[in-house]
Amino acid sequence: MGKKYPVEKTEEEWRRQLSSEAYRVLRQQGTEPPHDNEYDKDYREGTYYCAGCGQALFSSTTKFDSGSGWPSFYKPIDNAIEEEIDTRYGMVRTEIRCSRCGGHIGHVFPDGPEPTNLRYCTNSAALKFKARDQEM
Ligand SMILES: [Zn+2]
Repeated sequence: MGKKYPVEKTEEEWRRQLSSEAYRVLRQQGTEPPHDNEYDKDYREGTYYCAGCGQALFSSTTKFDSGSGWPSFYKPIDNAIEEEIDTRYGMVRTEIRCSRCGGHIGHVFPDGPEPTNLRYCTNSAALKFKARDQEM
């Protein structure tokens, strides 16, 4: 246990840095309410960054409306996401984490659209969006 990540902080440091909702999701594997979250219906062009460490995780070009109530993507940015088996709540799911800080982002399910048939189901609180015109 205790896998090492490029960005490591104490729980106290994370708690200070993050909003309480972002802390609950990223550091405590929480799940925000469906539909009532910041990026579910946001389809502006840009990039979604990890709210914990700022690593670019998803591009808006891979975002789609899954109807789940959470921001959904069919593909992460290369090497940005790592997967781990999650057996909490009596279910076997695949958790997705930021590869740089280990922050919990959401889960990936095998019912997404072409071309990957994967659905990366994320929590808005774990992400920070920057629209394309803000990035330049
Ligand atoms: Zn991160």
